[in-house]
Amino acid sequence: MPRPVPGTYTYEAPHALLGPGETTLPPGTRVRVPFGPGELTGVVLGPGAPPPAERERQKKVVLKTVRSRFGDPLPPLPEDLLVLARRLAEVTVCPLGLVLKAMLPASAPPGRMLRTALITAEGSARLREPDNRMASGPRGALRLSEDDRRILTLLAVSRGPVPLVRIRRELEISPGRSFARLEREGFLVIGAERLTPEAASPGGPADPEDRAPSRPPTLTAPQREAAGVLQEALEARAFGAFLLDGVTGSGKTEVYFQAIAACLETGRSALLLVPEIALASQQEALLRARFGPGIAVFHSGLGAAERRAAFWRIRRGEARIVLGARSAVLAPVQDLGLVILDEEHDAAYKQDEAPRYHARQAAWLRARAAGAVMVLGSATPSLEAAHAAERNALTRLRLPHRIAGRALPEVEIVDMRPLLRAYYKDPARNRARGPLILAPALEGALRDTVAAGRQALVLLNRRGYGGRMGCLRCGEIIECRRCGVAFTLHRRGSLAVCHACGVGMAPPEECPGCGGDVLRSEGFGTERVEEAVSRLLPDVRVARFDRDTTRARGSHARTLGAFREGAIRVLVGTQMIAKGHDFPAVTLVGVVAADGGLGAPDFRAAERTFQLLTQVAGRAGRGEDPGRVLIQTMKPDHYAVTAAARQDYPAFAAVEQEMRRRFRYPPFVRLTSLTVSARSSSKAEEAASALARKIVTPDAPESIEIVGPAPAPGPRPEGFWRWQMLVRAAPAAHPALRRRLGRLLESPALARGLAINDDP
Ligand code: ADP
Ligand code: ZN
Repeated sequence: MPRPVPGTYTYEAPHALLGPGETTLPPGTRVRVPFGPGELTGVVLGPGAPPPAERERQKKVVLKTVRSRFGDPLPPLPEDLLVLARRLAEVTVCPLGLVLKAMLPASAPPGRMLRTALITAEGSARLREPDNRMASGPRGALRLSEDDRRILTLLAVSRGPVPLVRIRRELEISPGRSFARLEREGFLVIGAERLTPEAASPGGPADPEDRAPSRPPTLTAPQREAAGVLQEALEARAFGAFLLDGVTGSGKTEVYFQAIAACLETGRSALLLVPEIALASQQEALLRARFGPGIAVFHSGLGAAERRAAFWRIRRGEARIVLGARSAVLAPVQDLGLVILDEEHDAAYKQDEAPRYHARQAAWLRARAAGAVMVLGSATPSLEAAHAAERNALTRLRLPHRIAGRALPEVEIVDMRPLLRAYYKDPARNRARGPLILAPALEGALRDTVAAGRQALVLLNRRGYGGRMGCLRCGEIIECRRCGVAFTLHRRGSLAVCHACGVGMAPPEECPGCGGDVLRSEGFGTERVEEAVSRLLPDVRVARFDRDTTRARGSHARTLGAFREGAIRVLVGTQMIAKGHDFPAVTLVGVVAADGGLGAPDFRAAERTFQLLTQVAGRAGRGEDPGRVLIQTMKPDHYAVTAAARQDYPAFAAVEQEMRRRFRYPPFVRLTSLTVSARSSSKAEEAASALARKIVTPDAPESIEIVGPAPAPGPRPEGFWRWQMLVRAAPAAHPALRRRLGRLLESPALARGLAINDDP
C-alpha cells in the first residue's frame, strides 16, 4: 500500500479479474483495493501466505477482495524492480509501499485509467474539433495564461496531433497543469496515438541536422584507456563498479558516451543520471545528437502525463537510453547494462523525503542485481566514493588533464580581512555606501574580462538581497513564525522572505514582539551582487541565475542560452552556476564569499565548500583562452579553500579523511538521523528519549552510539516541534541497527511523527 504502514496486506483476487492463462495476479500489477474506510491503489507483490489454520478454523479471517485491476498492458513494475524495492526499503528503513510508490508514475485520476492503458506511443494533444466545441465546448470563464495561449497557438498552426514532448521542447514549458485544465475546459483533447516521425519532429527525415549523428572526437589517451576498461567490463556482462576521477574539463562526458555505445552494442540499456534537471537539457541535446531517438528523459520536472508516457516507453523497452535526475534511478529500464552517475558527489542525489535513498546507493544495488556496470564520475569525488576506491570496492579510472592540453585556471585567494578592516574604519561613510561586496582585484578583473570580449561567472551561494532583521530593544531576530527561520530581505530590501516556506511580507519597521526599532543587518545575497556588478559594468548585460530567477518555466534554458550566445556577459548566481556547464568563452570566475558554507552545522560543510569552489573554478578557461579565478574569503588558510585554489583533490581528501576518522563521521562510521515531531516541544523530547532508550539497550552492538536528542535545527512545519538525534554505528553494526529501527517502526506509538534518515 502507498502508505507509511509497515508490512504487506493480503487480499483475495477474484477469478473475474484474471486474464486468460493467469492463475493469479502477476507481481507488479496495480490494483484498487479496499483500505480503511476507502479505496487505494496497491501493487501486487505475489501470492500471500494462507491464513493460519488455527484462525481459519475459527472463521475469524475474512480476506478482503481486490476491487479492480489497472488496464496496464504490462505490470508496470518488473520483477527486478520489486526486488530492488524490498532492498531499498530495508536499507533506507522505509515502508515498502512508499518505495513502490516512488517507482511508479503518479497514477492517472481513476476516470482516466483506461485511457492511460491505451497509450501506445507518446501522449499527444490536438485541438478539439469545432462542432464538438459547440456542444460541450470551452466555457468563456477560463482565463488563458500566456503559456495556455502559446500551447493553443502551436496546436492551431500544426496539422493533427502534436506530441506532448514536442510542445514541451518547443515552448520550453512543462505544461502538465495547463493541459489538464485546457482539456477539462474543452479546448483540446489529450490522447495516445502512434505518431508518424514527421509529427513527432516537424523537420522530419529531410532535416539532416536531426538525423546525422554527431561524430565522436579522437579520444585522448586517458579517455581511450578509461573507455577501453569500461567496454571490457560491459562485454563481460558482470557487475563492475568504477570511479571516473577526472579534473574539470577533462572530457568525462565523452567517456560516458563511449560506454553507452558499448552498452548498446551488448544489446542492453543504459541509464545516465545527472544531479539537476537544468543539466539534463544540456546532456539531452548531446545525447540526441550522438544516438538519435530512442532516448527517454525522466525526472520530476515533467508533467504527470509526460512522465507516464516516458515511463511506459522505458518499460516497454522502446527507449534504450534513459537520462534523468535522481528519481530516474528507479525507472523500469529493461535489460540494464550500464548506470552512470555524473557529478556523483552532488548533494541533489539524496532524496530528502521518504524513501530517503541516495541515488548512488540505489544505482549500486541495481547494478549488482542486474550484472551491470556502474560508473561514478566527478572531479571532486565524495569521500564515500574515494574511500570505496581505496578499499577496491570501486576501480578508479583517471583523467588527470584537461582536453587539448588546456591548463587548469589560475586561482588567486583574496584575503578580505584587511580590506574589510579598512572599509569599516569609518562607519558613517560606510552606512551610505552599503557593504563591501567586490574587492578591487575582482572589480579590475571583471572590467578587463568584459573589455576583452570574454565572459565571467560570479558566485555567491546565498540568494536574496540580503541581511536579516533584528530588534534593537529585545534583540530578537525577526523570524518566520511558522518555520523559526530568520527572514531574508529580497527586492532591494522591500520584501522579507522565509527561505524555508517561501512566505513573503513587507519588512516590519517595529519588532512584532516588543515594538522596538528594527535594525537591518548588512549581509548580502545574489541580488545585491548583481546590483554591484551592473553598477560596475553599466554597458553590458548582467543577469542572475538562482532559484528566484529560474522559477518561471523555461527561464533556466533561456538564461543559459543567452549566456552561451554571449548576449549576457556576466552571470551572477548561486551554486546553480557551478555545476557541469561547459561555456568556452568564460575566462573569469569570481567567488564573492568562499566561507559562507563553512560555518554550517553539517559534518560535510568543508567537503561541500571544497566541491563548490573547485567546481565553479572549473568553469573558467574551458575554451582556448586560459581561465582566471578570484576567491574572496575571510578564511584564506582553511584547507578547503587552499586545496580548492590549487585544484588539489588528494590534499583536501587527506585532511578531511583524517578529520572524519578522528571525530567518527562517515565514511568511517554509518550515521542515521532520527527526527521526532510532536505538537509540543516536551512531547517531542519525551518521544525522542523513549526512542533513544529502545535503540541503545544492553544487547545492542557496542559501536552504536547516540548523539542527542536535541531540538532539531532548521525549519519546523507549522505547529510542530522537532527533536533530533544522530545514531552512529560501525559499518559492521549498521545492518543490526537498521533491523532494530525497522522493528521500532512497527510500533505505532513509536513510529508516530518519526522520520528516519539513513546517511543524512
Ligand atoms: P568534464 O565533464 O570532464 O568537465 P566535458 O566532458 O564537459 O568535461 O568536456 C570538456 C570539453 O572538451 C567539451 O567541450 C567537450 O566537447 C570537449 N572534448 C571532450 N573530449 C574531447 C576530445 N577527445 N577531443 C576534443 N574535444 C573534446
Ligand atoms: Zn517560513
